[in-house]
Amino acid sequence: MSKEPKNLNKKPKLNPYWIYGIIIASFLAIQLFSGGFGGQTEAKTTPSQFFEYLEAGDVAKVEIINNREAKIYLTKDAVEKEIHKKTKPNSILPTVAPSANYSFEFGDLKLFQEEINTIIDENDLINTQVTFETEDNLFGNFILSLLPFILIIGVWIFIMRRMSSGGGGGAGGQIFNIGKSKAKLFDEKTDIKTSFKDVAGLEGAKEEVQEIVDFLKNPEKYTSLGGKIPKGALLIGSPGTGKTLLAKAVAGEAQVPFFSLSGSDFVEMFVGVGASRVRDLFKQAKEKSPSIIFIDEIDAIGRARGKNAMSGSNDERENTLNQLLTEMDGFGTNSNVIVLAATNRADILDKALMRAGRFDRQIFVDLPDVRERKEIFAVHLRPIKKAEDLDVDFLSKQTPGFSGADIANICNEAALIAARNNKKAVDKQDFLDAVDRIVGGLEKKNKIVTPGEKRAVAFHEAGHATISWMLEHAAPLVKVTIVPRGQSLGAAWYLPEERLIVRPEQMLDEMCAALGGRAAEKVIFDQISTGALSDLEKVTKQARAMVTVYGLSEKVGNLTYYDSSGQSEYGFTKPYSEQTAELIDREISDIIETQYRRAIKLLEENKDKLTELAEVLLEKEVIFKDNLEKIFGKRPFSKDEEE
Ligand code: ADP
Ligand code: ZN
Repeated sequence: MSKEPKNLNKKPKLNPYWIYGIIIASFLAIQLFSGGFGGQTEAKTTPSQFFEYLEAGDVAKVEIINNREAKIYLTKDAVEKEIHKKTKPNSILPTVAPSANYSFEFGDLKLFQEEINTIIDENDLINTQVTFETEDNLFGNFILSLLPFILIIGVWIFIMRRMSSGGGGGAGGQIFNIGKSKAKLFDEKTDIKTSFKDVAGLEGAKEEVQEIVDFLKNPEKYTSLGGKIPKGALLIGSPGTGKTLLAKAVAGEAQVPFFSLSGSDFVEMFVGVGASRVRDLFKQAKEKSPSIIFIDEIDAIGRARGKNAMSGSNDERENTLNQLLTEMDGFGTNSNVIVLAATNRADILDKALMRAGRFDRQIFVDLPDVRERKEIFAVHLRPIKKAEDLDVDFLSKQTPGFSGADIANICNEAALIAARNNKKAVDKQDFLDAVDRIVGGLEKKNKIVTPGEKRAVAFHEAGHATISWMLEHAAPLVKVTIVPRGQSLGAAWYLPEERLIVRPEQMLDEMCAALGGRAAEKVIFDQISTGALSDLEKVTKQARAMVTVYGLSEKVGNLTYYDSSGQSEYGFTKPYSEQTAELIDREISDIIETQYRRAIKLLEENKDKLTELAEVLLEKEVIFKDNLEKIFGKRPFSKDEEE
């Protein structure tokens, strides 16, 4: 069954419609066939007509079928006669025996037989045969009616067998590649150029996978001491944090082939495909061992089993998962195939995947912090012609919460922007524009904003800026813009400190700044608007978290309703009494209203500065820290953001 493994880099051209084609074709063939063979090709006639033919000596044979129907075979000469012309068999396929010319049903067999015998005797027709057939046609019809199904099932079984054997290159045709794994193979000699040098940050993760590299490079070192080589590791982290990159780097460092595919590649509309693809993948990996299999988005097949027992539609996925587990258990520790899998939802994975001997190592690949972002920038700035004074520190501070992929994207985008502006080198402004673009979607210069709306937006944003400038713990502002982008009409950019623990006064100051937008609208226009929706959403969530998660409300006390296991035993009911629910609601409202009043008070006291800032904003559309400093003076509390 096993043939040479096909070239993996060539994607099998698989078209499931082929199968439908075959099914339809066989249907048609069967229809033709049965029509020609068992169909009613003989002409209808009546008993009295038949007796006339019989008397005339035209009948060679009478076949009585199931004591009910008669089939008449004419003599050779009679067939030529004018009256019998249209009875010639019109079968398309050549038939084995000459078919009957007439058929009819008679009433009583006894009477019919007597009549025939009389005619034969009277006319001395010694050559006329009368035969009886019984079972033949009943059974034949039955078989014929089943034939289409038998054929379809046959074709189906054939396809499935070809698929699950995993073989069948060449003669079988394209459809038989359906059970082959779709893995993309990166050859260690030609394709893998990735090394740890290309992976910035992620020190912890790199250290852990370093061990895997060592295993792959000199397995004897470990096995000679009786140690077991790990079979799999799970890389856990949000999208774009470099999981694929890390896996590739492992292969690059160890100089082994790298099979890469996504969990969703296993899932196909045909039963049994996923499992056979898994089998095929491991077979190929073993042939090339030592090697690495990388399964991205393993959650597509690795979700916990049996949760959706109702639907039954998960059977296929479960079979695939079972096959994966079987393969991982099956290959010995000396096969030197290591499976790396990536997910951002480790919590939904089937626990069986994590058992010893399977993905028993879990490596966390987190979003980069400011220092790591700087390193990632350094990696992606390497090929870029950048301005001499480009401040990478500044860029990494500007991009909190960005993943490695986002940063790679920024660098590329900045180079494109610079090229569009015919610059010789990529400078800071290009990077800032790139950041804006990636965060807010493409700039919408032509979005229609009325002057009144623009004024409201300017004061709203100026309100945020003013408050955050004046409160010690609010994140210092870097940039305010009223250029509409994506969904938002304006935005204020802050430089959040990356805090590990947050104090209540910090939270309150941030909430106050977030409410500064609406407060400014109230103070200046004595009107509020829907423009504060996202601010309110943020503040409400934060206030709720203070009370119910972090236990920061005095009245509710030092308790939390947070459940880190995510499997609250309370289900949909609240884990607290009605009275507590009311208390919580009151506390949340209290916190928010207090901060809102505080923001109003601050802005009223600084109405002139707020107005000045808003006017500058209306004029320039974008303002930075220095504009704020010009109006408010140096920010008194800041220590670290000054260079
Ligand atoms: P994931 O698999 O976690 O979704 P990828 O590994 O596909 O993320 O990352 C996408 C791209 O982002 C990489 O090709 C690389 O250019 C960039 N990238 C991500 N993380 C890093 C990192 N730590 N160092 C350098 N580049 C990174
Ligand atoms: Zn706002």
